[in-house]
Amino acid sequence: MTGWIRESLYDHWQQSFLVEKELYRSESGLQEIVLFETPGFGRVLTLDGVIQVTTGDEFVYHEMLAHTPIYAHGAVRTACVVGGGDGGMLREILKHPGIEQAVLVEIDAGVVEFCRQYMPSVSDGAFDDPRVEVIIADGIEFMRETTRRFDLIVVDSTDPIGPGGVLFTEEFYRDCARCLNPEGIVVNQNGVPFMQGDEVTDTYRRRKPYYADVGFYVAAVPTYVGGFMALGWASLSPRPRAETLETIAGRFAAAPVATRYYTPEIHKAAFALPKFVQDLIKD
Ligand code: SAM
Repeated sequence: MTGWIRESLYDHWQQSFLVEKELYRSESGLQEIVLFETPGFGRVLTLDGVIQVTTGDEFVYHEMLAHTPIYAHGAVRTACVVGGGDGGMLREILKHPGIEQAVLVEIDAGVVEFCRQYMPSVSDGAFDDPRVEVIIADGIEFMRETTRRFDLIVVDSTDPIGPGGVLFTEEFYRDCARCLNPEGIVVNQNGVPFMQGDEVTDTYRRRKPYYADVGFYVAAVPTYVGGFMALGWASLSPRPRAETLETIAGRFAAAPVATRYYTPEIHKAAFALPKFVQDLIKD
């Protein structure tokens, strides 16, 4: 199939991709998985009609959700990625030599299998790293039951429709807080505030009772259309977010990772929120 594919996230606005070739389509599993090749963004993965990752711009999203909390914390050794079946988040987390263990909790084994086969550049060998453990499970059940503790939890989920919905509930945020070590951090994809403002307000309210520091930072991901994307931040301590540019730059210089979007300056600037986003953060 060639022609145009439209994303169906919003009922009043859509983006379209010129398709050079459809590479994969599966409707038999948990979610409809479609992969296609485009001239502008390379390979594009959709789940239930919603863009998940493109090989062209995934670096923005993955770098900002991985490196920002890791450099802010300063001593992350254990990390858990909830969702993230494409492996891009693991790839960025594993660039840090201090990481001893990275657990991926993904609900859909089909996403992991086919991303390894059809989008190998995204995981770039991460699934073969001995520090990685893959658990096929619903993230909310894993967090409810596990006795493990993490320095960092990255919720790399679909939007709060379908199976990803439970990862935006108060119950999940409470259980994540229980599974963090002191000074631990949770980050997540929290939608595009201009289009999905309620997600920012809801996340803030649902996290507030369980964390000492709840906030958001932003990144511009071209295929998450509608302006800046909000990345959620919740920590058991105010210390990581308050680290100065000098401290972050010092950590980056001491343990550098190759990036295309993240810099220590972007790290600090990303927490400066537009006024309309600040206005969404209310009790
Ligand atoms: N970067 C993407 C975005 O923001 O659109 C997310 C990509 S990642 C592929 C999303 C993953 O979350 C999918 O592989 C999906 O199967 C997984 N997922 C959805 N709900 C989940 C749940 N309840 N527990 C664990 N994984 C889940």
